Amino acid sequence: MSEALYMNDSYLKEWDAEIKSVSQDKFIILDKTAFFPKGGGVEWDTGKIIKVDGEEFNVVYTGKFSGEISHEVDKKGLKVGDKVHCKLDWDRRYLLMRYHTGTHVLSGVFFKEYNLKITGNQLTTEKGRVDLNMEEMDIDSFKNAIVKSNEIINKNLAVEIYYLSRHEAEKDSDLFKLAKGFSHDIDTIRIVDIKGFDRQADGGCHVKNLNEVGMLKFKEAVNKGKNFKRVYFTIE
Ligand SMILES: [Zn+2]
Repeated sequence: MSEALYMNDSYLKEWDAEIKSVSQDKFIILDKTAFFPKGGGVEWDTGKIIKVDGEEFNVVYTGKFSGEISHEVDKKGLKVGDKVHCKLDWDRRYLLMRYHTGTHVLSGVFFKEYNLKITGNQLTTEKGRVDLNMEEMDIDSFKNAIVKSNEIINKNLAVEIYYLSRHEAEKDSDLFKLAKGFSHDIDTIRIVDIKGFDRQADGGCHVKNLNEVGMLKFKEAVNKGKNFKRVYFTIE
């Protein structure tokens, strides 16, 4: 298994690696990677893999397949055993981190203030989307939740990442509010802790303080049916 460097350092932008496998000339597995694979409703990282001779390969997609992080590059030429230098498209990643942490704030507000759980989310560099198990459409609640989220963000709370044993984590069911697709069959659970506000089991990349998020802005809400309301927002 390749080492997922983003799990312990979401600010790592460049690193050296070795190519472990190449399939169909364009799907690359590295011994270690900071490219985040699409998952948990969050889009994938892009960037470059650079050979020792300087030739650059664009990483256009990162996904997880059979438990391995696979990088799709835009041309042939990488071989098993190649030593490479890797670089994230940091602007893209950082914006996704801001959206991701901001979404945790919003989901915390929905849960604490409205007793609503998020049943799905999709975060891109353009906008965020959360799906809620809300029965009746209530736009004012959405707008208020965004206002309250921004009040929390303005408290500049620290965001910490640490691990709990599965046993320890399961004592607190609130840790799994956003846990769509979260794998419970692992021994240690990674926790994203917005200090003094909300803790979540989570495998994604986050900013280290809410002061990096920016302000959330309500965009629109769509009624998708009973107990299914969809809210779009942006970060500015
Ligand atoms: Zn998350």
